[in-house]
Amino acid sequence: MNIVLLGPPGSGKGTQAQRLERDLGMVQLSTGEMLRATVASGSELGKRAKAVMDAGNLMPDDVMLGIIADRIVAPDCAKGFTLDGFPRTVAQAEGLDNMIAEKQIRLDAVIEFKVDEAALVERISGRFTCAKCGAGYHDKFQRTATEGICDICGATEFKRRTDDRAETVQARLDVYNEQTAPILPHYAAKGVLRAVDGMADIDEVYRQIGEILGTG
Ligand code: AMP
Repeated sequence: MNIVLLGPPGSGKGTQAQRLERDLGMVQLSTGEMLRATVASGSELGKRAKAVMDAGNLMPDDVMLGIIADRIVAPDCAKGFTLDGFPRTVAQAEGLDNMIAEKQIRLDAVIEFKVDEAALVERISGRFTCAKCGAGYHDKFQRTATEGICDICGATEFKRRTDDRAETVQARLDVYNEQTAPILPHYAAKGVLRAVDGMADIDEVYRQIGEILGTG
């Protein structure tokens, strides 16, 4: 199965994508993670990406479409993939349509995470990930079982995203409303759009996704 998770920053897309990968082998394709890896590499593109991301803006559509075009044809994606953070503009959605039609890949569902925007700032500002395996945690909603130790790999170092600062979060929410939310009617018209309650707890959101995908 190939799906898109669509929702504002902090709505829980990454958490659910990680679970789908763990349980169903659907590869998590997070464009944000790919860009953070590019930033860490220190390349020219990485330097450009860092400035764009720290301002809460979006990278150009052609760059993102190029990244995804290469990724979805990789052998590991044959089992299925979850697009997490892509598409983010109508132009990206249209580019994805063309790409998958050409490669004869089917998009099974686009799942919208419905959330209360006011709660997102708290959600975003508390999140952190394991520096080694990338498992996601939250100061309040998803703590490690043992303080300071990753549940998954036992590592003791964690990181926080520089664009998760409160001043950047509002800019990212505005960008979502202006540039990403207009994708919703695009997919509604195709009959593939479904929704989950992104304010429910992690297990409940996962259950709702399972119901949509017929895997629950
Ligand atoms: P995310 O981890 O999905 O919240 O993405 C972090 C940042 O990476 C975003 O705020 C954007 O600056 C950039 N980014 C991620 N995905 C895309 C995309 N599909 N199009 C443009 N910019 C993106």
